[in-house]
Amino acid sequence: MARDIYYEDFQRRLDQLKATGDVRPGSNCPLETEWWRVAAGLLPESQAAELLEHSICCDACALLLRQATQDLVEETTEQEITQLSAIPSAQEDWQQSLRKDSARHNTTATREGMP
Ligand SMILES: [Zn+2]
Repeated sequence: MARDIYYEDFQRRLDQLKATGDVRPGSNCPLETEWWRVAAGLLPESQAAELLEHSICCDACALLLRQATQDLVEETTEQEITQLSAIPSAQEDWQQSLRKDSARHNTTATREGMP
């Protein structure tokens, strides 16, 4: 498929990219979530091509895209891509554990306050 070649070529370019660690997205940069959609192939090809072109001259975005692409290549199935849009459940878990944590802290604080 032509699409595969397209992505393979881009992978090669990403591999050549050096991670400097101090690059930041500018005001013209797309959101990080856009790169996930590019990596997952959720965007129309024309839109993806536009974003990929931006990433070629923008280190910050290239790094985001590389991260997204690597994570997806490593372990993503189509089912998981669908779940990418269902992240709220994971967020709920996180909030629940946060609530448990703060409850524990409150108990400790009360005990310490006793004579
Ligand atoms: Zn950028």
